[in-house]
Amino acid sequence: MRMSLAELEPIAAALRKNNIAAHCVENKEDVITIIKTLLSTGDTVAVGGSMTLFETGVIDLLRSGDYHFFDRYQDSLTPEELSEIFAKGLTADVFLCSSNAVTRDGVLYNVDGRANRISPIAFGPDTVVMVVGCNKIVDDLPAAVRRVKTVAAPLNAKRLNCQTPCAVTGICTASESDLFTDGCQSPDRICAHCLISGRQRVENRIHVILVGESLGF
Ligand code: SF4
Repeated sequence: MRMSLAELEPIAAALRKNNIAAHCVENKEDVITIIKTLLSTGDTVAVGGSMTLFETGVIDLLRSGDYHFFDRYQDSLTPEELSEIFAKGLTADVFLCSSNAVTRDGVLYNVDGRANRISPIAFGPDTVVMVVGCNKIVDDLPAAVRRVKTVAAPLNAKRLNCQTPCAVTGICTASESDLFTDGCQSPDRICAHCLISGRQRVENRIHVILVGESLGF
């Protein structure tokens, strides 16, 4: 899937109306250029779980040594060490992640198991940067809920080896429901918390980089 800059721009304009800074790039190779303008040498930086950040080279950039990166992807982290890194995300200078969905009227929709991603999106870091492939653009909030139930959550559950029905079948047990709260009763359920980010009080705290090609899931 691809979208041109002209197709991305109306979504960027809708985000800006909601006090969210928006940037449009055609190719994933262009993401790093914008990220570098949003980071300062020595910044403390944390990330939410995201394949997009790997695909765009952002994780490699954060590991370059120019930043104080709280790296959740280090080898051999204990569960306690991982929890400590998640907690540091709340006080980092910059938090980077993707978004499960972005609606055409400029709303961000995200679903978490532990809320370690949606918490710093909502509050904490002075700057939040989201890198979003055009495959995550949806018409409205019901479509965002469906996208998570039919695409994002099943693929993430499988990637993370979660013992959920969707990891096996590829679709939520409540895929027909528009309600986020409808779903499985699995102990591994990854759809425990959701965050809907509309108009922001702190202008331009959140930056969204819209990319005209598919990234992550
Ligand atoms: S509620 Fe359960 S089955 Fe549905 S998408 Fe979430 S983890 Fe998968």
